[in-house]
Amino acid sequence: MKINQNYLSLNDSYLFSSIAQKVRDYKAANPNKEVISLGIGDVTRPLAAAVVQAIQEAATEMGQKDTFRGYGEEQGYHFLRQAVAEYYAKKGVTLDADEVFISDGAKSDLANVLDIFAGGQTVLIPNPVYPVYHDTNVMVGNRIVYTDGTEKNGFLPMPDPQITPDIIYLCSPNNPTGAVYSKSQLQEWVNYALKAGAVILFDAAYEVFIRDKDLPSSIYQINGAKECAIEICSLSKTAGFTGTRCGYTVVPKSLVRSGAQLNKLWLRRQTTKFNGVSYIIQKGAAAVFTQEGQAQTRSDITYYANNAAVITKTLNKKGIWSTGGINSPYVWFKCPDGYSSWQFFDKLLNEANVVGTPGAGFGSGGEGFMRFTAFGNAEKTLQAMKNFEKLF
Ligand code: PLP
Repeated sequence: MKINQNYLSLNDSYLFSSIAQKVRDYKAANPNKEVISLGIGDVTRPLAAAVVQAIQEAATEMGQKDTFRGYGEEQGYHFLRQAVAEYYAKKGVTLDADEVFISDGAKSDLANVLDIFAGGQTVLIPNPVYPVYHDTNVMVGNRIVYTDGTEKNGFLPMPDPQITPDIIYLCSPNNPTGAVYSKSQLQEWVNYALKAGAVILFDAAYEVFIRDKDLPSSIYQINGAKECAIEICSLSKTAGFTGTRCGYTVVPKSLVRSGAQLNKLWLRRQTTKFNGVSYIIQKGAAAVFTQEGQAQTRSDITYYANNAAVITKTLNKKGIWSTGGINSPYVWFKCPDGYSSWQFFDKLLNEANVVGTPGAGFGSGGEGFMRFTAFGNAEKTLQAMKNFEKLF
């Protein structure tokens, strides 16, 4: 038998293990110092009360003969798909519930969606990037072309007319850079994809952090996007579901390539390879979209947004170039005094007892930059920024 040789082309991912090792070493040598992490991309606020209650009620239903349920609706329960469609309606986007697919989170669908495309495609990926886009395309043997985020373009790379991609990954608000595309910039991407016959995979995992009403929080707010884009979203950051697991993917019926409706292909793929998210968790997810659930989860988003504002304010005060932080839980900043990402990581850890994520870990385009996240505790974030200020 032969293995998938593409897996041998993957680089080992040492980013988070290297960070953890350095922090362990520092703590072992300095047991009395408190190290504050602004490095994690995981949430820390607990599930909203409305979500917990819905999960408990659903668990009770599952334990009673009359309300027990076995296999669920293949695309996800209609009550949840309808709730997602109504959430989109509030953004001015009309979706049929059949265009919404419930998932166990964005990561799986970002990877699995490649099943419906032929191998050997040309894939346009931003650099720096959320590593999943890169690695999943290496796994299937696609040809990867990069579009560079830079200080000059505000880490919002724009289409390159020299390249004709088949698949384009966009993430806005972006991980790791926190940068957010404007409507006119996304319109350029949509026009470019339509012209090339490409499909945009739009990762909207952080859409809930957009507060500026003029910024798009869904690609379907852009003309023509339903003819060229799949949107992948998650409740991980929206409602603290990183451990609970639920998300949704939108595949419009008007998205057609090579004469095939991608919605039908994705349905076929999902019904063959995926048996859905549990009823209990889908009930919890539906509670996110109720009035009560929205109020409770939004208050957690405000909590994180306040942390991001504290970080951004400190960077501004020190005259350090940064993106993100306002409509995003990530703040991406230029390492001062020409430090490399890892050099500045060490300085931060050793002299300020603060952990960030070295930008170089997200691709060559991240060298010389760092990422702070706003997902931590408010007091600790404040303390971390006080320590940070003392570096200068
Ligand atoms: N997309 C981006 C840009 C992310 O940063 C993450 C997680 O950090 C994901 C997707 C995955 O989210 P999920 O927990 O829904 O799988």
